[in-house]
Parts: sequence; structure tokens; C-alpha cells
Amino acid sequence: MFNKILIANRGDVALRVLRACKEMGIQTVIVHSTADAESMPVRLADESVCIGPAASSESYLNIPSLVSAAAITGCDAVHPGVGFLAENADFADIVIAHGLAFIGPEPDHIRQMGDKVQAKISAAEAGLPLVPGSPGAVHTIEEAHKLAEGIGFPLLVKAASGGGGRGMKVALSADELSVAFSSARSEAKAAFGDDTVYLERYLDNPRHIEVQVIADSHGNAVHLGERECSVQRRHQKLFEEAPSPALTDVQRSHIGMIAAEATQKMGYLGVGTMEFLYQDGEFFFIEMNTRLQVEHPITEAITGIDLVTEQIKIAAGGVLPFTQDEVTFTGHAIECRINAEHPETFMPTPGKVEYYHAAGGAGVRVDTILYSGYKIPPYYDSLIAKLIVHGRDRDHALARLRLALQEFVVEPMPTTLDLHRRLVDADAIKTGDYSIKWLEQEFLTS
Ligand code: ADP
Repeated sequence: MFNKILIANRGDVALRVLRACKEMGIQTVIVHSTADAESMPVRLADESVCIGPAASSESYLNIPSLVSAAAITGCDAVHPGVGFLAENADFADIVIAHGLAFIGPEPDHIRQMGDKVQAKISAAEAGLPLVPGSPGAVHTIEEAHKLAEGIGFPLLVKAASGGGGRGMKVALSADELSVAFSSARSEAKAAFGDDTVYLERYLDNPRHIEVQVIADSHGNAVHLGERECSVQRRHQKLFEEAPSPALTDVQRSHIGMIAAEATQKMGYLGVGTMEFLYQDGEFFFIEMNTRLQVEHPITEAITGIDLVTEQIKIAAGGVLPFTQDEVTFTGHAIECRINAEHPETFMPTPGKVEYYHAAGGAGVRVDTILYSGYKIPPYYDSLIAKLIVHGRDRDHALARLRLALQEFVVEPMPTTLDLHRRLVDADAIKTGDYSIKWLEQEFLTS
């Protein structure tokens, strides 16, 4: 097992990893920018290293600073957390080249899945069902028009290096294809430095359902069930639940087994998530995230498995302590992302938290670095807390969620807490009958 782990991240995920390390008796080093010097993970870690100024390009994305911090503190492993460099294969390579363990998959798997064109090719080889689309990258507008005839409209032009919903444009008809093609390319070039795009059939009303997988270096791969993440705004998830209210037990174990088998075929290592769109009873693979997900706690709630400690043990060469048959699912879990954003305009609302009170009680978990007096910096992601509830069934989880949202206080800034308080009473949430369009096209416009 590792002696000392460098946590190369910030916010609630840094605290999540820190807690896992402490529980396992592993020493911790947290890195931080000057803006995060007072943060909770810095206060709780065994050691901390300032790696640069507030701008993440000079701190949390600064590979030489991160590797130096690991070297001078005598770490033997690096946990990249979620976001920042968690899916950067070059970072993983550099960490390994410095004799440190990277707590994540092999760099080649990160690279393969980070390029969506390559990811779809690998996914098809591993037996995953794909959204019909171009067989690979599409380089010219003439080629796009020719392929579009076979795929049909509406279609989506997507960036090979895309993320966070950027570099994605819909073309409803052939007339719109040229504009969609060139604007997706230029957006992709600006955001990711790579203008490679591909085409996919646009599914008009799908759900986003993803499967958590975990695999060790001894050939064992299992799935830990699915998460329903269709409540999205601008392709950003806001409310997630497990299991999905849309699936039957037969569909659930079918897609789970397909994902687990693909994980094994790929020789994948560690935790990962296969994302699918689901429409009219069919699943379509869209991408694989080669890291821990923000919404991992709902899987932990229904399986009783700690994904971060398992991830660390696997990186140290451990064997998965359970087989597929030993994974059981209990009850229903929901996560609300509490963002420092206005609940209607979604404008960021950083600033000093004057008063903070977390919800509590049976089946309630809060992952956050908030405390009264904490200054939410304006430089980073606006996620400030995750509220996770677990109940014996979906109605029970919703009842616990409603109560927890009433108790939760973050003042004085507006946050998405108010949005969640409205959401929990929406008919579509109560029935579970919603798609990825519901929040933006129905709920927020009503
Ligand atoms: P990113 O890496 O930018 O998150 P994804 O491929 O995961 O990109 O897609 C993000 C979101 O965009 C999905 O959750 C879904 O809402 C929408 N989306 C992606 N592909 C399609 C498609 N073929 N048809 C309809 N919606 C899609």
C-alpha cells in the first residue's frame, strides 16, 4: 500500500480523497493555489504545498509544480481527483515517469477514451452499442454532406476532443450542415486546440444513463449498476439518481453486463463510467469517463462500496474484493449538485458564506468544503456542495431529499438549493418520467 498520496485537486473531491486516505492510514499532501490557502482540505491534510496563483492554468493544471510538490514531500502516488488533469494522459505519463503511481487507468486508456472518435472505435470493438454516425473523423464539408445522407437528419456535429457539451452543434437539415460543421470546428479549436469533428445521429428525446465499472490489474471487472443523469442544463448534470427510474431489472443487468464485459475486454484498470443515451428501449454508447465521477456517491449509497478506497487499493495492485454476484443494490439514492449560481439565471455567485448549516439525519450525506466564513473563490467550478440522500425506495429517498433541502442553509448568496427545492416537487421528478430535454425545455420555461 502507498505511504503518502499527493491529492492534485481542490474542493469537495480533494476532501473526498483525503478522507479515504485518512481512513486507510495513508499520509496526505494537498496542493493548493493562493486562492485556496484557507480551504478545508488544506487545513485537514497532513501537509500542504502552494503550487501557484489563483488561475488554474498556473496552479492546478501546472504539471511541473504538481510533480515537484510530490517529489519534495516524498509521495509515492498521485490522485488526480475529478476535473483538471484527471483525464490528461500526458500528466499520467509524467507522474509514472517520475516513479510515482498514478491512481487511475493506464495512460493509454485515458488517451484512447479522451479522443471521442477513437473511443467509439474501441467501444465498438469491445461490443458496446453506438449511436449511428460517421465511422471516424470527418475532415471536409463535402465528406460531411455525403455521410449525412446515410445517417439522416437531425444530426449532431461533435468535437473529437469535446467535453462539457462544448463543440457540439445540431443540424436539423442538410441546409444547416455547413454552418453546424464550421461552427463546431471553430468552437472545438478554441476550446480544445483540436478541430477534429465527427457526425452522430441526433436522438431527439433520450435519457442519459451511465454505468459505473471497476476493474483490477488481475483481470477482474464488474459493474456497479447505473446512474440516471438526465436532469441537465447546458449538458451539465444537476440532479442524479440510482437506480434509473426508466429501467426494468432485466434491462439494468443487461446493460451492466455489457459494460462490465467491455471493461474486461479493454483491459481497463480502476474506476470508470460508460455513458449511454437511452431512447425507446435502446442504449447508445456516447463516451467513457476514465476517472471518478462527481455523482459517484449515489452508487456508493446503493452498493455500500467505497469507490475511492477501492480505486486506491487497485492502483496499489490489490485484487477486487467482490465478484459481480456479490454486488447487491439496496434502496434508492439521489444527488443534488449545489452550485454557487443563481437558481434562475445560473450566473455564478461567489463570495463569503456568512452562514452555513448542513442537512443531516438518517440516509443523508453532504460532501462539501463549506463552513461559515468560507470565501467561495470566483476562479473555479461553481459546485460548492453535494447533497446525497438514500432511502429504502424512490419515494422514501425523495421524502428524505425534500426534508434535507428544507434544512440546508447557505447564506447570503443565491445557490441552486432553491432550484432543487422546486425540482423535488415537480411532477416529472415524482414520477421519474423525464428526459435530457425536460429541465431546459419544460421545467425552466414554466
Ligand atoms: P461531453 O463530453 O461534452 O459531455 P457527451 O458526448 O457526453 O459530451 O454529450 C453530452 C450531452 O450531450 C449528453 O449527455 C446529451 O445530453 C447530449 N448528446 C450527446 N450526443 C447526443 C446525440 N447523439 N443525440 C442527442 N443528444 C446528445
